[in-house]
Amino acid sequence: MTAKIIDGVAVAKAIRQECRERVQHIVAQRGIPPGLAVIIVGADPASQIYVRNKIRACANVGIKSFRFDYPAEVNPDTVIDKIMRLNDDPAVHGILVQLPLPPSFDMSRVLHSISADKDVDGFHLYNVGGLVVGGTVFPPCTPYGVLKLLEHERITLEGKNVVVVGASNIVGKPMALMLMQHEATVCICHAKTRDLAQFTMLADILVVAAGHPNLIQPEMVRTGAVVIDVGINRLKDGRLVGDVNFDGVAAKASCITPVPGGVGPMTVSMLLVNTITSCERWQQQNFAPMWTKFAPAQAIK
Ligand code: NAP
Repeated sequence: MTAKIIDGVAVAKAIRQECRERVQHIVAQRGIPPGLAVIIVGADPASQIYVRNKIRACANVGIKSFRFDYPAEVNPDTVIDKIMRLNDDPAVHGILVQLPLPPSFDMSRVLHSISADKDVDGFHLYNVGGLVVGGTVFPPCTPYGVLKLLEHERITLEGKNVVVVGASNIVGKPMALMLMQHEATVCICHAKTRDLAQFTMLADILVVAAGHPNLIQPEMVRTGAVVIDVGINRLKDGRLVGDVNFDGVAAKASCITPVPGGVGPMTVSMLLVNTITSCERWQQQNFAPMWTKFAPAQAIK
């Protein structure tokens, strides 16, 4: 079997066209575009590239972006003050803090100071809770992108065995919750999982987000499985690869995402979708905030 290669670039492009149309409609109705505030602390080169890409993607569909740069030594309260002001700014519908933050920062305190109503990354506890009980407004962008890819390929989830390798708060855990909502039978593996292959072999759909090149080898994958590789790893020779041995697994799977060009382009597109959704929510006549106010001093440590 030779797998169909899922073209994340093409799907992301189609989603961006939909975004453009939604933005045009908003502007035609209200005169102001959706706004996304992006906060970056420090000079991490990868983060600088990610932020630049997000801002460029916003411009591409007509979302207005507001970028705020802080040095790594900034007092975390300065950043939180800024977030509180952005929470009240009517031109801003989404707020994103680029991760990772410098070690001196309490990441949850910062993330939970973002209003749940502008939490377009979906990391606020309120939105995480929404994932658990079903019906979150802002699904986290990477797992949301994976679902959209599966939907685009008309791969149904109901009753399927799905194995998620990786259990981070950003990718693996929300991915598993979203798959459960689609009535898949979900198994989550992590670094302490014993004999990973005995779980991955059971997967009709295998989603891998561990950050280890070549973690998944062909003998760990069932013939005909759908394989979604979320991993992004830079090799010493400069090449970008995922977590899956692509050539070996592609010979056995029915569908597979490449790296680059699979899940990656979807993540930024879903950020645009969440920002536009937020703007549309704020413009509803009967808009009811999810969360009145969340004082950062009360944030869970
Ligand atoms: P992370 O926070 O480092 O989490 C990695 C997860 O994988 C952890 O749950 C860890 O287990 C688990 N893991 C590590 N080694 C493993 C192993 N040998 N077997 C099974 N599980 C293992 O990373 P992340 O933020 O979730 O990102 C994961 C990968 O996805 C990275 O390569 C990242 O660059 C990529 N990524 C891609 C996108 C995109 O847009 N395509 C977006 C975000 C992330 P423990 O919990 O036990 O430590």
